[in-house]
Amino acid sequence: MSERDYFEKDYYAALGVSKNATTAEIKKAYRKLARDLHPDKNPGNKQAEEKFKAVSEAYDVLSDDKRRKAYDEARSLAASGAFRGFPGTAGGQHRGTAGGFDLSDLLRNAGAGAGGDGGFGDLFGGLFNRRGAAGRASRGRRGADVETEVSLPFRDAVRGTTVSLRLSERGTCPTCHGSGSQPGTSPRNCPVCGGSGLTSRNEGSFAFSEPCMACHGTGSVIDTPCPTCHGQRTVVAPRTVNTRIPAGVADGQRIRLAGKGEPGVGGGAAGDLFVVVRVTPDSLFGRSGDNLTLTVPATFTEMALGTTITIPTLEASVSLKVAPGTASGRKLRVRGKGVRRANGHVGDLIVTVEVAVPSRLSAAAKDALEAFARTQTADPRPHITAATGVAAGSTAGATAGASAGATGGA
Ligand SMILES: [Zn+2]
Ligand SMILES: [Zn+2]
Repeated sequence: MSERDYFEKDYYAALGVSKNATTAEIKKAYRKLARDLHPDKNPGNKQAEEKFKAVSEAYDVLSDDKRRKAYDEARSLAASGAFRGFPGTAGGQHRGTAGGFDLSDLLRNAGAGAGGDGGFGDLFGGLFNRRGAAGRASRGRRGADVETEVSLPFRDAVRGTTVSLRLSERGTCPTCHGSGSQPGTSPRNCPVCGGSGLTSRNEGSFAFSEPCMACHGTGSVIDTPCPTCHGQRTVVAPRTVNTRIPAGVADGQRIRLAGKGEPGVGGGAAGDLFVVVRVTPDSLFGRSGDNLTLTVPATFTEMALGTTITIPTLEASVSLKVAPGTASGRKLRVRGKGVRRANGHVGDLIVTVEVAVPSRLSAAAKDALEAFARTQTADPRPHITAATGVAAGSTAGATAGASAGATGGA
């Protein structure tokens, strides 16, 4: 990044957010874009890679309150016209001033070490540090936050597990340490722009600055490119992060691993790594918060007469007592067999018992059921009877045309 970027690039547009966006909105927009544009997802797609870089750069600035403020100030100054007078450009006759000071003075001051006020001096001081041009002691820049996804089987998510995250990130080239030049050689100032990274174009009475075509705005030319990064200064390198996923993570949950993001630059702190957890469903269990859920079919006789059913938990199986006369759909609680949190909180296992109606009956079973049915004299649905005025067992009244096909004929 060069200081020109502050004047030329619209970081808000890059992230698709408004100038008044909150830090949270900026973060959210960045995460979505970073995920979509990630080199892993778009292998060999140069356009996506460029966009990924642009988005990262925009986020670097806008996510840092101090730098965002400086950027906003720079932008408003640019809008006021002062930018046309940027030193090192040929737009001399339009050299502008804003509010009585000249940008070139500002730059000189910053370069000489007059920064530190959180405003312009700070902005340019910081930028010079990053480029290493001014030779001032570097305060460093925090590494970018990184987001990745991990897919966990249901039971691992409940119990907690250790995962190995394989990331690939663009970082400073280890061979040339970011100079882009073969070790032992160094870049030289671009002869076209004189090292400023900018050239000027006149249009009518206005002068526009634009990135130097010869050096792509970097201000320097590399004669013998670094064999590792081919002069790009950065490389995409794989990195593995091993981390413990705590028990009880839920699908879609985002876990922050402080300091596991991209390394800082010039002694700056590392960014954070955000891991979004995707939980694959289990064939038996479901989840509701810290409770596990399980549906257990039972026969009508088991429900009517009462029984004991052996049911699985995430640990050993347990016996579940079903009381005589248990209604279908009843929820039974098995205490302490849910999600076991690190803080000691333990959820329950909620078992829903449901009557399983046999789809086929043997002749003997049919006889027995019919004999049983003759003993049933109470109306099983008195509230329906009350609403319709039709007594149970009656065949009177219109047959509902839309009734389910499974309805037995009289
Ligand atoms: Zn140049
Ligand atoms: Zn290199």
